[in-house]
Amino acid sequence: MTENSTRIQAVQNITNRQPMPVKLPEPLSSLWWASDVFTLSKMKESLPKEVFKSVKKTIETSSELDVSIADVVALAMKDWALSKGALYYAHVFYPLTNATAEKHDSFISVQSDGSVISEFSGKVLVQGEPDGSSFPNGGIRSTFEARGYTAWDVTSPAYIMTTDNGATLCIPTVFVSWTGEALDKKTPLLRANAAMNKAAHRVLSLLGHTDIAPVNSSCGAEQEYFLVDANFVNSRPDLLLAGRTLFGAPAAKGQQFDDHYFGAIPERVQVYMQDVEEQLYRLGIPAKTRHNEVAPGQFEIAPFFEAANVATDHQQLLMTILKNTAKKHGLVCLLHEKPFKGINGSGKHVNWSVGNATQGNLLDPGKTPHSNSQFLLFCGAVIRGVHNYGPLLRAVIATASNDHRLGANEAPPAIMSVYLGSQLDNVFEQISSGKVTGSLDAGVMNLGINTLPTFNKDAGDRNRTSPFAFTGNRFEFRAVGSSQSVAGPLVAMNTFLADSLNWVADALESKLAQGTDLDSAILSTLKIIIDEHGAVVFGGNGYSAEWHKMAVEERGLRNLKTAADALPVLKEAETEALFESLGVLSPVELASRFEIYAEQYILAIDVEAKLVVSMAKIGIYPAVVKYLSELSSTISSLKSNGVELSNAPLTLITEKLTAMMENVGKLSAAIAQHDFATPEAHMQFCAKTIRPLMDEVRQYADALEGEIADELWPYPTYQEMLFIK
Ligand code: ADP
Ligand code: MG
Repeated sequence: MTENSTRIQAVQNITNRQPMPVKLPEPLSSLWWASDVFTLSKMKESLPKEVFKSVKKTIETSSELDVSIADVVALAMKDWALSKGALYYAHVFYPLTNATAEKHDSFISVQSDGSVISEFSGKVLVQGEPDGSSFPNGGIRSTFEARGYTAWDVTSPAYIMTTDNGATLCIPTVFVSWTGEALDKKTPLLRANAAMNKAAHRVLSLLGHTDIAPVNSSCGAEQEYFLVDANFVNSRPDLLLAGRTLFGAPAAKGQQFDDHYFGAIPERVQVYMQDVEEQLYRLGIPAKTRHNEVAPGQFEIAPFFEAANVATDHQQLLMTILKNTAKKHGLVCLLHEKPFKGINGSGKHVNWSVGNATQGNLLDPGKTPHSNSQFLLFCGAVIRGVHNYGPLLRAVIATASNDHRLGANEAPPAIMSVYLGSQLDNVFEQISSGKVTGSLDAGVMNLGINTLPTFNKDAGDRNRTSPFAFTGNRFEFRAVGSSQSVAGPLVAMNTFLADSLNWVADALESKLAQGTDLDSAILSTLKIIIDEHGAVVFGGNGYSAEWHKMAVEERGLRNLKTAADALPVLKEAETEALFESLGVLSPVELASRFEIYAEQYILAIDVEAKLVVSMAKIGIYPAVVKYLSELSSTISSLKSNGVELSNAPLTLITEKLTAMMENVGKLSAAIAQHDFATPEAHMQFCAKTIRPLMDEVRQYADALEGEIADELWPYPTYQEMLFIK
């Protein structure tokens, strides 16, 4: 038999690989922490006092930017960038594709005498015009009026991105159309933060505060990812083009021993992680924890939380660095939500809270939450928000790739509910009964061993089946996909919180106007919240069939199973009213987002379906036929020598191959269909017809992988990809 040379070669390459030199991380010192960032302290050194004060004020209080200082800032920024070896600058922006986009311009300016000088004016710092007409715009721009502008976001620091090709000064920007509509993910995030700040301010004032610093949201995102050797990826068209395996029988060993989770990090991976972290530190991104995840070949990195806008930009950078660094190490970093069937997929837990410099973290319950009315109002506002806008929360995480996780008993279900933990459950029950007496004590953990310390237990346990869990002083939105920008979820959360806080402020104001005292007004407002919205609070097993039934039938929550079901929520009247009333997205902007996300869903599935057809036809079919032909001639030649071998394997393999090709035929026909009245209908067709057909083809192909000679199988196997590094 002839061997499959690509696969064998891949394994050989990996076995013979020269390991990357182990480089011990440099000791942490302020000399290189954030050395590639134009930080406030660098601005302080290089800007005139008044200019620095003005920039700092804008950054810290989101007050209006004084454009007249732009020239001075630009000059200082340029000098700093040139001193770091940068020849180019780029306005970096975040189009609706989850990607990061940048257009590079040189600092060089040619003079009339032919000489060159470096130049960077305030005007080009503040505003850019990358044509960018090829980014999806959902009908906002037609190509004949395709101007798009980028505008400097002062609140996110500029930085130097260094690659083997040199250094570039990167300036975070928003990206808007000629008519002022948002074409990106940053614009609505800034607007949502502003709306939340305003609403929070109202509530805090009513609670009697007079000194109220701007309220901002924070985000700490835990990022899961897989690492696979590049040799394998290069011989798998599915991983290469779709980021996930569309075929592959499970390895005998998966994650059933739980021996990978928090296990010792393999040396090659540790070297990679250190390389990543060093770059992150230079960029001022506070990488904090790293560990092995549940699935073999799966890892996690979590930076310390930051202001949501900065954290979002940093998250995009982190994904870029994870991917680029992997290449250097001969690995591929897979950020896809479900690269391998049968083992856990990857998510991105978005930890979120709101707070300010004067009142602190507004979601911190303290030791006695029952008497912390400020916390209860903010927490109650979140509960109301998730209840009213749960479907929106589902829609902002709806992608073709995340559909593989949600509800697959490894990630939270597609039904959005809130987990509070026993202590807060109890406080809200008391509120509902109208009489609040105390907070359950979390208690002390005594391990019964003298030499070990006793410690205070957390007031609530964890519940990993909940999509939206309170975790001590923040909420953790756990259903976000690993490849996604965190901007969408943060926009949704800040916007519905703004809406809820305004509702709270209205309720308090009207009660106070009627002469009710503040404490009674607060208690009755909280009681309305928990009585009307408590249906969204759930502490049980989110995976169970009972919950799915109860959630929908008794509690009226929606179970939007696929992205095809969830994305149309963006078109619903409630969603439109929410975003429009708070000035976060106009109806036109919102509609364009639906168009774009729907199109991306359809395109993603189209690419996958085409890959399934081609891999089955030109990879798997030829291998199986070859095996059949070799096996049948061997059986007949043995027979002529008097050795009787059963024909059963021939029959079995032929049947499976025929069934596979039948489904390939059906899938090809389905892909060819294009006449859909609406994007909704097309999405449903992808979810209900194309995807099941892909699964059918896969089922037979994976069975065949277990029947034919290993050396003929054309693609690297799960065992190889997950266990050889
Ligand atoms: P776990 O895996 O237990 O959920 P990690 O420590 O891996 O926790 O990640 C928790 C994330 O939550 C970190 O990014 C952390 O900085 C972040 N975080 C902590 N407190 C807050 C807060 N108040 N607001 C937002 N994020 C927070
Ligand atoms: Mg977590």
